[in-house]
Amino acid sequence: MKLIDISLLISPSTITYPGNPKVSIISKKTNTSVISTLVIGTHTGTHIDSPRHAFKNGKGIDSLSLDSFVGDVRVLNLASVKKTIEVMDLKKHRIKKGERILVKTSNSKRGYKKFYSDYVHLSPEAAQFLGDTKISLFGIDYLSVKQRGNPDNRPHTELLKRNIAILEGIDLSKVSAGSYLLIALPLKIKGGDGSPTRAVLARL
Ligand SMILES: [Zn+2]
Repeated sequence: MKLIDISLLISPSTITYPGNPKVSIISKKTNTSVISTLVIGTHTGTHIDSPRHAFKNGKGIDSLSLDSFVGDVRVLNLASVKKTIEVMDLKKHRIKKGERILVKTSNSKRGYKKFYSDYVHLSPEAAQFLGDTKISLFGIDYLSVKQRGNPDNRPHTELLKRNIAILEGIDLSKVSAGSYLLIALPLKIKGGDGSPTRAVLARL
């Protein structure tokens, strides 16, 4: 099985969403080994949001069903979307209940060397559509599903209130549209609002 790594590299120069901690890795040498202290946000790089991210009493990352994070996934090519993914952009793809969906937008082409505020994001209505469709996971190729600065948090809440996993910060630049196997397990952080993940795809 050939794996395609869709994870962002974690280093002190990793881009972070404004307000998130900067990555710091401090290594200490002993006589026999090297041990590092890793400072990283729960929403840094390629990561998963848990319902706790948006809801005070929402499920923590440790209590989400792992089934969402391993299994069939469909990558949709939304490269023609300029700024906001709308319901009609998704409807074309006949998304079904239980599907895992990743969207490849122009974000993947722009890359991840510099943070862009005007990344392609999900509209509140499109998030509601995905929630109503009851998909099992939604992934996007930037650090947030929501437009920066928009007070309407439905892109998160419409998914998280139904325990639909959100996978953010995936790099789909080397991936074409189609069906794959996804593996993107979160760390088992007690009550966590999110977790970094090493996300990979395999061709089916
Ligand atoms: Zn997040």
